[in-house]
Amino acid sequence: MHTYNAWFAAQDDPAERYPLTDVVYYSQSGGLLEVRHDLDALRDRSAEEWKRLFEQRWMRTNWPYGSGVWGKKEWVCPTVADENVVSMFEGGTNLFWAERFGREVGVEDLWLKLCGNSHTGSFKDLGMTVLVSVVKQMISDGKPIRAVACASTGDTSAALAAYGAAAGIPTIVFLPKGKVSTAQLVQPIAHGATVLSLDTDFDGCMRIVREVTADPNNGIYLANSLNSLRVEGQKTVGIEIVQQLDWTVPDWIIIPGGNLGNTFALGKGLLLMHELGLINRLPRIVCAQAQNANPLYRAFCNNWDYAPIQAHTTAASAIQIGDPVSVRRAITMLQHFNGIVEQASEQELADAAARADRTGAYACPHTGVALAALIKLAKRGTIAKNDRVVVISTAHGLKFSRFKVDYHESQLAEVVSHHANPPLELPADVDAVRRALHLAL
Ligand SMILES: *Cc1c(COP(=O)(O)O)cnc(C)c1O
Repeated sequence: MHTYNAWFAAQDDPAERYPLTDVVYYSQSGGLLEVRHDLDALRDRSAEEWKRLFEQRWMRTNWPYGSGVWGKKEWVCPTVADENVVSMFEGGTNLFWAERFGREVGVEDLWLKLCGNSHTGSFKDLGMTVLVSVVKQMISDGKPIRAVACASTGDTSAALAAYGAAAGIPTIVFLPKGKVSTAQLVQPIAHGATVLSLDTDFDGCMRIVREVTADPNNGIYLANSLNSLRVEGQKTVGIEIVQQLDWTVPDWIIIPGGNLGNTFALGKGLLLMHELGLINRLPRIVCAQAQNANPLYRAFCNNWDYAPIQAHTTAASAIQIGDPVSVRRAITMLQHFNGIVEQASEQELADAAARADRTGAYACPHTGVALAALIKLAKRGTIAKNDRVVVISTAHGLKFSRFKVDYHESQLAEVVSHHANPPLELPADVDAVRRALHLAL
């Protein structure tokens, strides 16, 4: 009955196909591969039947379907055996109405999707569970894989190290020295990964890991998002948002973008829902970039004419990327969704995060970039007052404590801390405390 199938296909030639368990990253012409699904097989269930199935599985304990990702296994990676799934109950993160912040910025139907409330503290878990599960499948099929490797701006390596450790698969991470947060650095260390701290930036790490993994005979498998297995898991974020909004489509979804695999993945999940009839319209997508690392924003302003740039330091370190791997497919996807690219300066992203924190959020700098984009688009009237907007919060604020501390101590580069709230240092004296409270309130 339900024999669902998926495979790698060359983006420029869908007839060029490989099994998902082949060690292959590029098509013959050197382009990226994409995971394709047998849509005819998926049509054996009606839209209503899919919704019912997904609802039945949502956040339950029936292995592995309680995971937000594996609850949609047929749409994600039907070819992995259940016993090879490596899952830590990723997905299913809270989507909540950000009432107070929305009111303050003039968008009353504003929702935050807190993807950072996940095992390793970022939305990278969504894709890594799929990639590591396929690797476990490959190993159980007898493929000679010794380790899995990635270059990372921090969160990918944390996710790879955790899922690799859960499966007992060795991991190697390439990090740009001094450019990831302490919390991000200590995660792969704690999980026993081989941590290589290189004196370069992310783009430099990416070049080296590509070379190290290029020879399929050395048994080191590449886990970066140019490996489209990760996109399959990441694409569930858009599907989840619609599900959590009772299967209705918001007007806008805003996502911060660096390597742009996630901008592509967000669109891919929504398109699959559309194709299978679960939704009958599409949201507009906004990709938000840091002004200091804005190659996509520049392309958007230049009729989508893209050129790589040298990325400069930004507090939004996970998106400090000048030459995004998925730029072409992200542009195609954004065009499909009538998309927009917006940017945020260090000042704008830090103030947006701080304002959101004042309303009870705890925004990481990347979420700050997305919130700053929201504020600008709302002010400009591009996003209307009554539009329903979902902002994807990509990492947990607690992974970026240095950013918060520096902001509130007015130490953040390029930033005047308009909303700083430093602690009041006082002698242990009741009168001094009374005076201070009188002033504070
Ligand atoms: C990876 C990441 C992003 C951006 O995703 P891309 O696919 O690289 O565009 C944004 N925020 C955080 C916290 C991330 O870890």
